[in-house]
Amino acid sequence: MDRREEIAANLAAVRSRIAAACAAAGRKPEEITLIAVAKTYPAQDVLHLASLGVQDVGENRDQEAAPKAAEVAEAGVDVRWHFVGQLQRNKCKSVVTYADMVHSVDSVELARTLADQAQRRRGTPLDVLVQVSLDDDPERGGAAMEELAAVAEAVAGADSLRLRGLMAVAPLGEAPGSAFARMKQYIRMFQADYPDATVVSAGMSDDLDEAIAFGATHVRIGSALLGKRPTLR
Ligand SMILES: *Cc1c(COP(=O)(O)O)cnc(C)c1O
Repeated sequence: MDRREEIAANLAAVRSRIAAACAAAGRKPEEITLIAVAKTYPAQDVLHLASLGVQDVGENRDQEAAPKAAEVAEAGVDVRWHFVGQLQRNKCKSVVTYADMVHSVDSVELARTLADQAQRRRGTPLDVLVQVSLDDDPERGGAAMEELAAVAEAVAGADSLRLRGLMAVAPLGEAPGSAFARMKQYIRMFQADYPDATVVSAGMSDDLDEAIAFGATHVRIGSALLGKRPTLR
């Protein structure tokens, strides 16, 4: 089987999982945006995905994403780039030039740096999600519950950023369903203050079903589409 056929088969399987999870939750598959996380995989795979109708691509490291985005653009293919990994402040300058949405803003300082670079280097506001921590493990990123309001305010108050919603990663060592149930509480509180920030980015290859049950609007799928990555990242 050639690579495009392999990706097509994986994509069909992921789309039917999304459909089944939506049916179980009484939701519509059109409510869910599939983001293909292409980290460790080449630009050619992004071109295959785009030719199969996937318009949203995720990356977690600027060093890899910046040249890949340039290669895809050079091929004349237009996709939306989602930066989903932990973001170092010194990378904001690069990320704002190709990213359409940054999912991983988890501190006031990061929001300010991103706003400043977006102001200097972009013509349109950058879509931003605030990443919430479901386990208070700083290694995995995310703002703690008590920081969430301040981070959201820093994003919402910046002219060069647009606050679109929340992002979460299920913690290790806990059933994803119980972590995403907690996420749902955060969403409710957050959307009381920001009713237009309706994006909920949650769910990966192993837990997209639970994430959809608890309100995800954007799922970030890597290995189920492109294969197991050689290293754990
Ligand atoms: C790698 C990654 C994903 C995709 O993970 P899979 O388990 O391969 O689907 C999703 N979100 C983030 C933040 C990632 O770093």
